[in-house]
Amino acid sequence: MKYGKNRWISYLWIAGIVIGSLGLSGCKSSSQKEEGSIVVENKGKKTKAEASIFAMDTFMTITAYGTQAEEAVQEAQHEIEYLDQLLSAGSSDGEVGEINQNGFGSCSQDTAYLLERSFELHEKTDGAFNVMMYPLMEKWGFISGDYKVPPQEAIDRLLPLTDISKVSYDSKEGKIQFLEKGMKIDFGGIAKGYTSSCIMDIFEQYNISSGIVNLGGNVQVKGKKTDGSDWRVGIRDPKGEKEYLGILSVSDKAVITSGGYERVFEENGVKYHHILDPKTGKPAQGGLDSVTIVCEDGTLADGLSTSLFVMGFEEAQNYWMDHSNEFDMILVANDGTIYVTEGLEDKFESQMTKVHIIRQKNK
Ligand code: ADP
Ligand code: MG
Repeated sequence: MKYGKNRWISYLWIAGIVIGSLGLSGCKSSSQKEEGSIVVENKGKKTKAEASIFAMDTFMTITAYGTQAEEAVQEAQHEIEYLDQLLSAGSSDGEVGEINQNGFGSCSQDTAYLLERSFELHEKTDGAFNVMMYPLMEKWGFISGDYKVPPQEAIDRLLPLTDISKVSYDSKEGKIQFLEKGMKIDFGGIAKGYTSSCIMDIFEQYNISSGIVNLGGNVQVKGKKTDGSDWRVGIRDPKGEKEYLGILSVSDKAVITSGGYERVFEENGVKYHHILDPKTGKPAQGGLDSVTIVCEDGTLADGLSTSLFVMGFEEAQNYWMDHSNEFDMILVANDGTIYVTEGLEDKFESQMTKVHIIRQKNK
């Protein structure tokens, strides 16, 4: 996977709230010891462990509280490194990278799970979520960083390679084959949410009742803070004018945002970003600056944040009306108006005046 350098900035924006709310300072006290890159702090009976790593081309932090916090954070770090290599579309020595090079291969449990979730989401979102967009991501230069608007004929030539019905997948055997040469899987729209979900499972195994991961601005929390209050997650201003648009108070949730500000370039006065509409092969233009999804399942939150961004303002609301039992969301429209679904009404604090609550029609 390839992510832009402004990810660093994105992390800092979010970290200001997430870390600030934990009452952390930048300096280590005498009770802290550093083991490898894991910082362990003993607070009476409760141990706090924290690690920062760079993976999936973004800056990540993992924080856990509990007697086995250090072990949990260490295993979480290994999991991130493992999944990064396994799922990276362009790597030459990872499973997905090899499948992409060869056009066929065997899927391990993680890859198979993600493929199946991705196929399911493709269907549910009427094709808005499509893990086969990689040939077009390459053509637009979003992988190499050598950005350029491709000629229409190149887009037309590559679009058939994104057709999911040309992926032959045997779920029993875990075997995959592309029916056309040049097709490639890209889990960039779902991998970080899956990774944070896996870390929540690790936290569970190590009896971590309070923990948080921040994978480049995509946040997932376990339980509440150790003082019993909710975690506070800052929602980034997609236009980058304010420090953040508001703060969301959550427990046991993933809070995952997709926006047209991550990897962006400008040509002839037009801005182009890295979330592609599978129908056109071009950056999605649905009237949204960002979509934040809030739900317990990190994989779903990540997949839906990309999907609803592609669907655009109207369709995203319709999708929520039909699936409001599965997730809540915050939409930021192109004009700066914030739309928050009713489940977050008491959880989202904002100084902004233009905040609307989306409610179920049939209530
Ligand atoms: P982030 O860059 O913050 O992870 P997303 O979760 O929205 O944002 O993922 C964007 C990535 O998803 C792109 O970089 C690309 O790898 C992939 N992608 C682009 N368009 C689509 C799409 N329509 N469906 C699924 N994945 C996509
Ligand atoms: Mg996503």
